Amino acid sequence: MGKLGLGLAVACAVGSCAIAAVMVGRRVRSRRRWWRVVRALDEFEEAASTPVGRLRQVVDAMAVEMHAGLASEGGSKLKMLLTFVDNLPDGSESGIYYALHVGGTNFRILRIQLGGQRSILGHDVERKPIPQHLLTRTSEEFFDFIALSLKEFVERKGNNLQPSQVRGKDLGFTFSFPVKQTSVSSGTLIKWTKGFAIDDMVEKDVVECLQKALSRRGLDMNVAALVNDSVGTLAVGHFYDKDTVAAVVIGTDTNACYLERADAIIKCQGLLTTSGGMVINMEWGNFWSSHLPRTSYDIDLDAESQNPNDQGFEKMISGMYLGDIVRRVICNMSLASDIFGPFSSKLSTRFVLSTPLMAAMHEDDSPDLSEVAKILEETLDIYDVPLKVRKLVVKICDVVTRRAARLAAAGIVGILKKIGRDGTGGITSGRIKGVRSGKLRRTVVAVEGGLYTSYAIFKEYLNEAVAEILGEEIAPYVILKVMEDGSGIGAAMLAASNSARSVDTVQVL
Ligand code: ADP
Ligand code: MG
Repeated sequence: MGKLGLGLAVACAVGSCAIAAVMVGRRVRSRRRWWRVVRALDEFEEAASTPVGRLRQVVDAMAVEMHAGLASEGGSKLKMLLTFVDNLPDGSESGIYYALHVGGTNFRILRIQLGGQRSILGHDVERKPIPQHLLTRTSEEFFDFIALSLKEFVERKGNNLQPSQVRGKDLGFTFSFPVKQTSVSSGTLIKWTKGFAIDDMVEKDVVECLQKALSRRGLDMNVAALVNDSVGTLAVGHFYDKDTVAAVVIGTDTNACYLERADAIIKCQGLLTTSGGMVINMEWGNFWSSHLPRTSYDIDLDAESQNPNDQGFEKMISGMYLGDIVRRVICNMSLASDIFGPFSSKLSTRFVLSTPLMAAMHEDDSPDLSEVAKILEETLDIYDVPLKVRKLVVKICDVVTRRAARLAAAGIVGILKKIGRDGTGGITSGRIKGVRSGKLRRTVVAVEGGLYTSYAIFKEYLNEAVAEILGEEIAPYVILKVMEDGSGIGAAMLAASNSARSVDTVQVL
């Protein structure tokens, strides 16, 4: 080999070494970036963790806050609103009743035929979107739409009825917004939520507005019960099972209510009810405690929301937000590394990843996680991510959902603790009793809402956590029962149980 040949060979060898070194360097850097992401996921998982000890702290905090909210107006972030519902349906109701439900994903109109002995003989429901423009117009225009829709429904569905079957024409009204109730069939709107902004409605009596619209449309119907969705759910639960003492709604938003002793409602001195109890609407979405495992993603989500420092519990557990927490984690990881490829601007779009899509990724059981890949592509413009990255996405969904479900479970046990149904003897004067003194009684909690009923892993985590917190001795006594569409049916049932009354059963002395 001549000098030239030797030189070329050396140059080639040096070149190959350099390329190899660059490749190794790239691989090392890429591996480092991968481990950085894995570490970020570990940190997120740690910050969002809900070991049973922490859940018990949340249980205690919920019970204490409930107590504080009942003690004085503004005593807690939990409003603990009086509903004036003192007698829940017991299954003996009969006849045909209608209900309206405003405040869910769709406006709903229902008709049920009750046959006594805990039976529903007929059930019709119509779902209808509310035209977007009506959400910001006048209350008159809004309620005219509601009344006209009801009139058309009654005419359509009522054709095959004997006149004797339409008894009383009592109507239940589920109105899922914060309302200051003044009786079981009246209440003023405190504020709008969920994108509604009909300004002239605020502080007006909701039933009066509806009743006037019904008259304008010539509908001879009487609004016998004004409730929110959780109270409706409790009513259906109680209709079927008298051991039902609380109800929880976990859908787009979240709320809970329960049956309280009238004498425990300290802020309303001299409250007398025939049954000795009253349903309290907790508005639990606004619950807050320093024991809640809050992460930087929750802080950002809250700060960028329309209602900062409000609805803190809801922002960790309800369907409106879970997908967006997942989006935020993926966005952060994509900014810190290239594991998701070039940064996609979709990742900066709030609410682009809905909770049902997140659930679909979480529940993807295909070997190559093809559903995850599809949703990343179609929703987030993220293409060709390797399997290990898809697995990472599933893990993020799992952390977010597990925390949500377990915190909701702690909230439920908190309610049971407040009313002495968790086997620990409840609380006295805001202090938690440590000893187990409560007598064990069968206790049913009615649950409604798409997050719980349609997201199987969420439901499983929630049920599992309730049992874990209560322990094996108490858990068999506590039963969570799904009440499909409970909020609407329950309002109709409450219209039934309240229409029979000729006298007011609630007095404030
Ligand atoms: P709303 O709360 O609007 O009255 P639903 O109780 O039906 O209505 O709950 C709808 C919400 O439940 C959706 O906004 C979504 O967050 C959640 N949800 C519905 N279906 C699923 C699903 N398959 N997986 C996960 N979440 C779901
Ligand atoms: Mg709902």
